[in-house]
Amino acid sequence: MTTGTKDSPEKSLNFLEEIIEADLRSGKYHSILTRFPPEPNGYLHIGHSKSICLNFGLAIKYGGKTNLRFDDTNPVTEETEYVESIKEDIRWLGFEWANELYASDYFDILFDYAVDLIRRGLAYVDDSSSDEIAELKGTPTTPGSRSQYASRSIEENLHLFIAMRDGKFGDGQKVLRAKIDMTSSNMHLRDPIMYRIKHAEHHRTGKKWCIYPLYDFAHGQSDSIEKVTHSICTLEFVTHRPLYDWFIEKLEIFASRQFEFARLNLSFTVMSKRKLLQLVQEKYVGGWDDPRMPTISGYRRRGYTPESIRTFAEKVGVQKRDNLIDVSLLEFCIREHLNKIALRKMVIFDPLKIVITNFSDDVEFLSSEDNPEDPGTGRREIPFSRELFIEREDFSENPPKKFFRLSLGQKVRLKSAYIIQCDKVIKDENGKIVELLCSYLAESKSGSDISGLKVQGTLHWVSVKHAITAEVFLYDRLFRVEDPSNEEGDFKDYINPVSLHVVKAAYCEPSLRNARFGERYQFIRKGYFCLDRTSSEEKLIFNRTVTLKDTWAKEAKKQ
Ligand code: ATP
Ligand code: MG
Repeated sequence: MTTGTKDSPEKSLNFLEEIIEADLRSGKYHSILTRFPPEPNGYLHIGHSKSICLNFGLAIKYGGKTNLRFDDTNPVTEETEYVESIKEDIRWLGFEWANELYASDYFDILFDYAVDLIRRGLAYVDDSSSDEIAELKGTPTTPGSRSQYASRSIEENLHLFIAMRDGKFGDGQKVLRAKIDMTSSNMHLRDPIMYRIKHAEHHRTGKKWCIYPLYDFAHGQSDSIEKVTHSICTLEFVTHRPLYDWFIEKLEIFASRQFEFARLNLSFTVMSKRKLLQLVQEKYVGGWDDPRMPTISGYRRRGYTPESIRTFAEKVGVQKRDNLIDVSLLEFCIREHLNKIALRKMVIFDPLKIVITNFSDDVEFLSSEDNPEDPGTGRREIPFSRELFIEREDFSENPPKKFFRLSLGQKVRLKSAYIIQCDKVIKDENGKIVELLCSYLAESKSGSDISGLKVQGTLHWVSVKHAITAEVFLYDRLFRVEDPSNEEGDFKDYINPVSLHVVKAAYCEPSLRNARFGERYQFIRKGYFCLDRTSSEEKLIFNRTVTLKDTWAKEAKKQ
């Protein structure tokens, strides 16, 4: 099935859109309600952004709504800090939820639902230990058998379940189980646990509860209470779906339906919150928002834009089979966006001084486009003077073939300025080049060049006496293998030891003195940059968001 007009090319619907369109057409629903259900046990990562874009995106497309529901049924791992960060990240991505909800808001209703199932002989209290429960459960190829406690009377079960709630038992002494089928080929239907005892303080309900529902008894019921029409989750929940449906059917409540898609996996990245937490706690990175982290806050700090992440989610599409998406696709999306919006600046990382011997002692202000991709951004003035810095690697004493940068006797253009020629190399007593003596061609000024000369190379530069310094953080991939979670041993053995390179003093054109948070820059020939959140007027600090080109693709080709 396809949609589209003559102007926009026909785009086929993904399977979720097909289902929703069919549901709306048949009148099953008049409007749709989706939800994004994070567990507040860590910061959101780029995988979550896929789920966010999908849930919110579908609702926007079909005029429906999306709830933000914190799946906070596990009191031990959840924290308010995570709740706040999750809300900030979703908003930053550009989405607004209809209602902010918590699974813990439903603890009373869920308790009543459980009592209802006990009354109908569909749930029982089991005193077995977790080992005994596991043993009786059988294996995927052999049937399980029922616990001796499954034959308790309804009255006894009711009495015990209320005693569980009232704190009469210790952790692990009893559980509440649904009475379904110990021989089912689906292990999730072999009398799954609904409630366990956990004497722990909850970030919202405090000490009110010492029994907590498990995911399978909380999630579908929460969906149903909210009247979620399409409950979209990742593929690992396919085998949970029969249980999701069983509870809803037996409780005779609103029939939310679950649909599954493939989770996003990115090359050179680990995605599980548990692993990301290890990187933070064991100080492999500076925190959840370290710019090398695949968290939304990490990408934000690094200079990614919400648009680029939304475009990425769109390009990845909705799949029904797990796969590994190449991280260079994400880098492509941010490069494309930054190319359109970044202001061009000249910054030297490793300076080599050049003296323009035939230039006066004055300063000349040259004009340069802020962004040739967007003429609306205007121009800026850059001071040009007798002493300039160029990049040390842009000069070669013994130039290899096709070296179009500066060498003795060779001409290059200085960006937005003049053509220069190197006349003399000056070295210190150790033979290190300390300075180049150059001459410029006055008639070759950019924009009014009447020299008639064609040169191959254009170099960036800054005026020595006008340059301001900044610290620059250059990031590389955090892992040196494609799929760190699938390698032998610990994923942390595969951390790239050189994922961060710091340029202590980069020399920047003076307009960067007015650099603003949130603004994006292209340091010409260097990549895309933004101010780090720790930057100050006294000390400018920039993060490299992404290089100008995919250097890893080049590496791979070389091999
Ligand atoms: P993790 O395993 O990384 O800790 P999770 O699935 O436990 O993730 P939740 O907070 O439970 O994290 O997830 C909230 C929602 O985001 C769920 O609907 C989940 O399916 C979805 N989600 C999580 N990871 C991904 C991913 N990599 N790709 C797509 N959706 C994801
Ligand atoms: Mg989880």
